Amino acid sequence: MCAAPSNEPTFRESVDLMFNRAAALMDLPPGLEQKIRVCNGVYMVRFGVRLRGQIQTFTGYRAVHSEHMEPVKGGIRYALSVDQDEVEALAALMTYKCALVEAPFGGSKGGLCIDPRNYDDHELEQITRRFAYELIKRDLIHPSQNVPAPDMGTGEREMAWISDQYARMNTTDINARACVTGKPINAGGIQGRTEATGRGVQYALREFFRHPDDVAKAGLSGKLDGKRVVVQGLGNVGYHAAKFLSEEDGALIVGIVERDGALYDPAGLNVERVRDWLVRHGGLTGYHEPNTVAEGAAVLEAECDILIPAALEGVINLGNVHRIQAPLILEAANGPITAGADDILRARGTVIIPDLYANAGGVTVSYFEWVKNLSHIRFGRMQRRQEEARHQLVVDELERLDTAMGDNWSLTPSFKDKYLRGADELELVRSGLDDTMRIAYQAMREVWHGRDDVTDLRTAAFITAIDRVAKSYRAKGL
Ligand code: GLU
Repeated sequence: MCAAPSNEPTFRESVDLMFNRAAALMDLPPGLEQKIRVCNGVYMVRFGVRLRGQIQTFTGYRAVHSEHMEPVKGGIRYALSVDQDEVEALAALMTYKCALVEAPFGGSKGGLCIDPRNYDDHELEQITRRFAYELIKRDLIHPSQNVPAPDMGTGEREMAWISDQYARMNTTDINARACVTGKPINAGGIQGRTEATGRGVQYALREFFRHPDDVAKAGLSGKLDGKRVVVQGLGNVGYHAAKFLSEEDGALIVGIVERDGALYDPAGLNVERVRDWLVRHGGLTGYHEPNTVAEGAAVLEAECDILIPAALEGVINLGNVHRIQAPLILEAANGPITAGADDILRARGTVIIPDLYANAGGVTVSYFEWVKNLSHIRFGRMQRRQEEARHQLVVDELERLDTAMGDNWSLTPSFKDKYLRGADELELVRSGLDDTMRIAYQAMREVWHGRDDVTDLRTAAFITAIDRVAKSYRAKGL
């Protein structure tokens, strides 16, 4: 629909250009800037799987961008777009993303050049296990060295296969489950991981709207309530973001763009109904009244308050940037705006909440899962005892007040219950994610507002992240 024109740099070059903009404003020792920017290594593998009576060859990659902290972290993508340039770009973004939200990982990314829709479950399992085998053999999947997670085209099912494959090949590793995150709950996953990236998008926007002067920079005012949102891509990330923003924050999802078309309704679309249709039919085609399917570009470029590209890289590029009307763009996908389009939007005053920050919810909760796996303790159990003691004091005090106030005021049973129960795993995950998104925004904002030479959030995010990576290299040497 919106393929980037060929006069644009590649995805990796685009990430490097953004890096360079920020690095030019920093005082990094000679050589260190180059060391941080480059990808440490990429492993490429071709392997065969016998399917439907004949051998099919697949090409896969795992890029390791920076090992200033280990393990390195980043998803595994199944898509036809996967190539060396793409995994290098995505691995670099992982390095900066982890640094920005202080997840103690280096950056990595992998992928298989495949359209998963062309294979059935059993075939996908064979392909995934075979790919995992190749990576495990080279420590490119390992609890203390390289920990994958879901990305486009993969989910908890693939992570369960990878985890099991690792366990079979490392029968004495007690930490085997920590070799991959985004697993199903019954295979060592954590509550709230599937929704995490979308949840992080919601927390990012909530934090943005807590700062009226930031909101004003986008020419907007007020709260999230009633804001008109267009979401491009209703996959795991886009769906959860749209669902939470509409159900919990009163935002109106006026547009949904998918690969085969788009829907638009100024009164707000029913996210659940659209998602349901998509899951059942694989596209929007045929979606019935009151919303008929429109041309994708028309909705991406439609007037709205917030545009959330949540699928592929490069969807906002030199070919369409002049028609994009949203004053505020949140990058839920990795790299949805090319460097050239970014320059134009920045000059125009469009506020961009950058990918490094906006989609960091996934890796943040991956970090909680990894810690849970390594600690071998049911997450939330230790904390719960302490929380309970603390909360009991609060409840006692509230009850005392309750009695003193008589009929004028009363505690709701659910409020009491929440405090008495202490935090369960999902509550802990969500509050940990919320804290992370707030703290990271404030770190980025300090640079944005504190320096005259920084005029956008992306540069502020890169400066914050690069500074942390540089500090880590300085502390431990190369
Ligand atoms: N694939 C996700 C991302 O791009 C999650 C990575 C992870 O959890 O390691 O951030």
